[in-house]
Amino acid sequence: MVRPLIAGNWKMHKTIAQATTFVSELSGALSTDAEVRLYPPFTALAATARAAADTAIAVGAQNLHDQREGAFTGEVSADMLTDAGATSVLVGHSERRHLFGEDDAWINRKVHAAIRSGLDVVLCVGETLDERDGGHAQQVVERQIRAGLDAVPANATVDVAYEPVWAIGTGRTATPEQAQEMHAFIRTLLNETGIGARILYGGSVKPGNAEQLLACQDIDGVLVGGASLEPESFAQIIAAASTAS
Ligand code: PEP
Repeated sequence: MVRPLIAGNWKMHKTIAQATTFVSELSGALSTDAEVRLYPPFTALAATARAAADTAIAVGAQNLHDQREGAFTGEVSADMLTDAGATSVLVGHSERRHLFGEDDAWINRKVHAAIRSGLDVVLCVGETLDERDGGHAQQVVERQIRAGLDAVPANATVDVAYEPVWAIGTGRTATPEQAQEMHAFIRTLLNETGIGARILYGGSVKPGNAEQLLACQDIDGVLVGGASLEPESFAQIIAAASTAS
C-alpha cells in the first residue's frame, strides 16, 4: 500500500518564530502512518528545517527557478533550496500559474532543475471553473501533466497534486466522487509514463472532509493550504490519513 503524503503549503504566511513554534507543537501530534511535509516561505525554510530535523516532518519549498545561478533578481535556485534544508519542492502551483504567469514549458524546466539537484517534486495541476464548466477539465489536466513531466525519467521522485483552481482557498471542495474521477484519470496517464507518483488532492481540505477524501481509492494524500496554518487542524488531517487507510 502507498504511504499517504500529507503536505502543508503555508504560502505567504509565518515568520521564523511562528514556523518553529508550529513545528514543536505539531511534532508531538504526529502519526507514523503518513509522510508529513511542510512548505514554509523561503525566509523560514532553513529555520523550519532545523526545527524539524529530529522529527518525522520533512520540509520543502514552494517554488524554485530553473537556472542554477545568475542575474535573476528575487529568484532562488534548486541548490539554494537543498542548502537551506529542503528535500522537496512544489512546482506549478495554480497561484504560480495564474498570478505569476508560469506556463507548462517553464514548469517543466523547473521540474528538471529540481530533479537535477536531488529534490523530490510535487507537480501541481488543476483546471479553472470555466474549464470545468466548459467540459475541458481532463483535457487541461492531461496537458499540464504531459508537458510538466516531459522527458522526466521514470525513476524520478515525483508526486502529482490535483488541485482544481475553483476549490483552492474558496471553501468549495471537490466532492470525493469528482476528485476520485480525476485521480483515476491521472493514474492512467501516469501509468503510461512509468513514474510511480502518488496523487494528492488539494483544495479546501479541512479536518471535516479529509477522511472522506483520503478514503478514495486513487487519493494518496492531500496538499493543504489554509487548514495547515494551525497545528491542531493540520494534526487532525494527518490523523485522518490513519483512519482512512
Ligand atoms: C493550496 O494552495 O495548495 C491549497 C490547497 O489551499 P487551500 O487548502 O487553502 O484551498
